[in-house]
This record gives sequence, C-alpha cells and structure tokens, in this order.
Amino acid sequence: MTAKVIDGKAFAANVRAQVAEHVARLKEENGLTPGLAVVLVGEDPASKVYVKNKHASTIEVGMASFEHRLEANTSEAELLALIDQLNADPAVHGILVQLPLPGHLNSELVINRIAPAKDVDGFHISNVGLLGTGQKSMVPCTPLGCLMMLRDHHGKLAGLNAVVVGRSNIVGKPMAQLLLGDSCTVTIAHSRTKDLAEVCKRADILVAAVGRPEMITGDMVKPGATVIDVGINRIERDGKARLVGDVHYDSAAAVAGAITPVPGGVGPMTIACLLANTLTACCRANGLAEPE
Ligand code: NDP
Repeated sequence: MTAKVIDGKAFAANVRAQVAEHVARLKEENGLTPGLAVVLVGEDPASKVYVKNKHASTIEVGMASFEHRLEANTSEAELLALIDQLNADPAVHGILVQLPLPGHLNSELVINRIAPAKDVDGFHISNVGLLGTGQKSMVPCTPLGCLMMLRDHHGKLAGLNAVVVGRSNIVGKPMAQLLLGDSCTVTIAHSRTKDLAEVCKRADILVAAVGRPEMITGDMVKPGATVIDVGINRIERDGKARLVGDVHYDSAAAVAGAITPVPGGVGPMTIACLLANTLTACCRANGLAEPE
C-alpha cells in the first residue's frame, strides 16, 4: 500500500483564502480590520523565522499585523506592561507571544497575562480549561490544524482509535482533547510508555508530536492508518541541512492509508489556524457571527 499524501500546504492555502474572504467582508460591511500582535523576545533564529512568516501571512489575508521585537534582556515587568497595553488596544484582536522565552522570563506568568479572548495560541489556563470541559475556547493552532485535516480525510472520527505520541501542553494534550471531543478512543503515549510500537500499532489515527527525528517507523504503523506528523526537526544528512518529521516517512508511507509530509503537512496549517483564530477573536469581540 502507498499512503495518500495529505497536502497540508494546499489545505492551508484554502483556509487562508477563506479567512481572507471573511476579512474583506468584515472590512466592507462592518468597517473592521482584524489585528494580530506578535511579540518576540530575543534572537532565537527559528523563532525569528516563524515571526517573519506569521507577519507576512497576516498581511496577505488583509489583517493588521503588529510586531513587537524586544531585546533578549527585557525584564518581566516590561513584557507584562506590553501585554497589558495590547490587551487594552481595540485594534488588537489576537496576541501571540513567541515561545520559547529567554530563561529569565516565566512563560506561564506571561501567557496567563494575555486576555483569554485575545489568546489566539490557546495556551492561557482559561482556554485550556474551557477546551478540557468541552466549552467554546481558543484552540491551540497546531492541534486544530491536525484536527481539520483529519476531519477532512475521514469525515466523522467517532469510534476511531487515536494514539497521540507526546504530552506537551502545546501539542500532545490539546490534540488528545480535540480527538476526544470528536469521540475518538484516545491514548496518550510519552517517554515512559511501555512497548510504544505495540501501542502505536493499535491506532487508526496516529499523531506524532515527539521532537525526535524519524522515530516512528513503518513497523509501528497499523496498515491503513492515518499518520499525522507534527515534528519539525532540523538534521544534517549527506552534508546537507534537512527538515524531517518525527515519522520515518518512507517506511510509514508504505503501510499507512494516509500521511502528512514534512515539510508541507502540519506546519502550514499551524499559521493558517492562527489567522483563523484571530478572525474568530475579532468576530467574538464585536458580537458578530463566527466563521464556520
Ligand atoms: P516537547 O518536547 O514539549 O514534548 C515532546 C513529547 O514527546 C513529550 O511529551 C515527551 O514525553 C515525548 N517523548 C520524547 N521522547 C519520547 C520517546 N522516546 N518515546 C515516546 N515519547 C517521547 O515537544 P512539542 O510538543 O513542543 O513538539 C513536538 C514536535 O512538534 C517537535 O518536533 C516540534 O518542533 C514540533 N512542533 C511543530 C509545530 C508545527 O507547527 N508543525 C508546532 C509545535 C511543535 P515526556 O513528557 O515523558 O518527556
């Protein structure tokens, strides 16, 4: 069997086009421009690339982009003061603080300072609680993108066995919550899981969010399963820098029914969902109907 490739790039382009259409309507009919503020502290090279891409995508869909680049030695008080200012700014509907923050800053404190309604990353403790209890919330972008692709591929997910490898607060746990919300039977695996291969092999839906290059191999995949590879790992192979996922693509694609590639799978969906969340936040802030 050769797996169907789930084209996250094309899917994301479609989501962005729908967002752009909605933004144009908001401008014309309501005189509103959704605005996203992104805060970057320090010089982390990967973070700088992500922030640049987010800015370009925000502008492209017709939203306002507010970039705040702060020195690596910015104090917690200064950063919190900026968040307070953004919370109070009616032109800003979404606020994202790029992680990881430099070590002297307390990420939890900073994230929980963002007004929950503007927390487009969905990391604020209120949004985590709302998601966990099945209430309307801001949903973390990466798992939301994965869910959208899974729903598109499968239609209904109810009753499917889903295994999420990884239990981080930003990917693994919210991914598991979303799959549970769609009535999957969910297992969360992690570094202490016994016989990971056997656990993975039970999955109709296998989500890898581990941060270990090509760790999930074809012999861990149930024939016909859908494999979602969240991993983004920069490695060197044959003297060349390469981007690979947490899944060993060739061996997994030979067994799976469908698979997301890296790059071109989950990554582009993450930014598209960030834009969709910002649009949702703008609609909610103004009492308007939310995008579907
Ligand atoms: P974390 O490092 O926060 O979490 C990794 C998880 O994997 C942990 O729960 C850890 O278990 C588990 N794990 C580590 N080693 C093993 C192992 N040998 N067997 C089983 N489980 C293991 O990573 P993130 O969740 O932040 O990110 C995961 C990956 O997704 C990374 O490659 C990251 O770059 C990528 N990513 C991609 C995004 C995108 O837009 N596509 C967005 C965000 C992340 P334990 O808890 O026991 O330590």
